[in-house]
Amino acid sequence: MQQVDQLLIGGTVLTMNEALDVYEPGAVAVQDDHIVAVGSMNGITAAYEASETVDCTGQIIMPGIVNGHTHLSMALMRGLSDDLRLDVWLMGYIMPAERAFVDEEFVYLGAKLAAAELIMCGTTSFADMYYYEAEVARAAAEVGLRGICSQTILKFPAPDAESYEQSMAYAENFIQEWKGHPLIIPAIAPHAPYTNTDDMLQQCAEIAKKYDVPLHIHVSETRQEVEDSRDNYGMPPVPRIKKLGILDHKCLCAHCVHVDSGEIRTLRNHGAGVLHNPTSNLKLASGIAPIQEMLEHGVNVAIATDGSASNNDLDMFTEIHLAALLAKVATNDPTAVPAKQALLMATRIGAQACHIGDITGSLEAGKRADIIIIDIRNVHNTPTYRHDPDSVYAQVVYAAKSTDVKHVMCNGQWLMRDRQLLTINLDELLERSQAIANRIDDFIREYSSNIMSKLISVASFQQQESFEIQLKARFNETERIEVLLNHDDVSIVKHSHYRQYDTYFLFNDPDDARVRYREDDFIGENGEVTGVRSRLTYTLPTKEREFDKAILLSHSQFYAPADRPLRFYREYFKAAEEREIHKERLRWQILYKGVQFYINLDTILHPESKNKYLEVKSRTWSLSDAEYKASLATEIISTILNIDEQDRVAFEYVDSATSSPHPSRPETT
Ligand SMILES: [Zn+2]
Repeated sequence: MQQVDQLLIGGTVLTMNEALDVYEPGAVAVQDDHIVAVGSMNGITAAYEASETVDCTGQIIMPGIVNGHTHLSMALMRGLSDDLRLDVWLMGYIMPAERAFVDEEFVYLGAKLAAAELIMCGTTSFADMYYYEAEVARAAAEVGLRGICSQTILKFPAPDAESYEQSMAYAENFIQEWKGHPLIIPAIAPHAPYTNTDDMLQQCAEIAKKYDVPLHIHVSETRQEVEDSRDNYGMPPVPRIKKLGILDHKCLCAHCVHVDSGEIRTLRNHGAGVLHNPTSNLKLASGIAPIQEMLEHGVNVAIATDGSASNNDLDMFTEIHLAALLAKVATNDPTAVPAKQALLMATRIGAQACHIGDITGSLEAGKRADIIIIDIRNVHNTPTYRHDPDSVYAQVVYAAKSTDVKHVMCNGQWLMRDRQLLTINLDELLERSQAIANRIDDFIREYSSNIMSKLISVASFQQQESFEIQLKARFNETERIEVLLNHDDVSIVKHSHYRQYDTYFLFNDPDDARVRYREDDFIGENGEVTGVRSRLTYTLPTKEREFDKAILLSHSQFYAPADRPLRFYREYFKAAEEREIHKERLRWQILYKGVQFYINLDTILHPESKNKYLEVKSRTWSLSDAEYKASLATEIISTILNIDEQDRVAFEYVDSATSSPHPSRPETT
């Protein structure tokens, strides 16, 4: 009799090996960190004797589950914001919170909270991607989980690096420090093709090769990402990263929702693993990845949860279940991705996708002892059928729940027995996690109510404090503008024609700040649109005073190009009120008696108005200058254009704009 540390006996053993051997009743012998033997109960108990024997009667013994893609520390942001589009969710909540809170302690605590959840849901291996990845590695190593820990590389400043060079240095250091650890595989993670330059992607590929470590990246998650890649690089993300060498060495590609058959073949030919995140893709409405086609082509696909901020949990039982169902609805074929296949993606094939298939993912002699035991002696798992050998897989995938996981062993060490965590003090962990959440809650409350801080985080603003004089009047006999333009004292510097679509966001804000989203269509000589420009303007209410029948205005304004669609700003700002006004603007920059004026001749297109308006404006810098320019503007209005005193008006267009719950113009994004 050979002596071993542990014998797990009496359960249904799903080996998930190449032959998909099932032993019922079966047994597994474990010594130190690895599996010594797997087989029928009689065979194993006849050959081995152990210091500890666990009776698994009525239970399923199977490999620990592999979670192919996650951001563990985001467990602390679970429920921070939900039911939003990816850009609003990221820019409006996740990134500001990350900038303010993510430090080493946060990452460590979040990873520990996530680790507790992983274990309780039967996961023993994960592939993570985050900042301060050494802290994720430290937390996982302490609790005894197996992890591919990938340090994020971004072209923007990140919580753990002010520059990309800094994050590269961190990554290299981290890899050198952790390489060879029994549980942790350090890796490099250029976050995504669109958040890295070509040079950076190439450098990441070189590091992966130099240190022989995996490379983890988000690829083709949304349709927009693919369209942008075509626009910016002339090709979708997969051929781009192939060209840059990313796929050459142990690559893990998260998502791959929008890939075609050619790209699938590219991934297969390079041995890249695809990490399929059903809940995250559904919740963010990214789409359904063509998993069935990938599997038919022989791509290794892992199932994954993604981070808890977009899921909102790390329960792989839900993901396996969904992966099996989604493939059916996506192909209109109920035989697509049967339960056995789904469970393989969460075990052996998933491990292969993560390039750890040689050490885990199946119960085989020589592999690490990553084992879970699922109790099926409960109401939702009863009864049990066995006439079809595959029904045991269906039981795990379609009926069992993560709470049925009873014992968890990783690398030969028990992490959970009878649902009690053995390497984590759960009460303390929960308390500390809630304390951080309370601080983030306060921060988000403050952040959301401060329009300026919200603006700054999505646009690069230039401040412009300006003073100007402005005269405005109803002016319906527009042909009379010729009198001004042909006047002896007037020379025209520049003429332009726009169509302006303004959306004002108004807030219940003590400063009464406003944000205007303006889309200018430049109109050519034949009425065609020759160009489009979108800008955001932040304005505090105009301070004004009557000044020699003109109005002196002082603005405090911030301008920025609006590089996102109106829809984004609408969902991002959540204004108390939205107003819309569209107008046709003929604009002349003139010199009158040598002084520069802007003449705007505006036809209001929406809301409909019978009146047209003339604006005479000039920048000014001193009271005496304002006085002089106001007198000249009055000459233009009264003497040259003969506009009656009673036609003078003193309102801003925003005041006459209508509240608009819905955009009346289709968006051009
Ligand atoms: Zn992700």
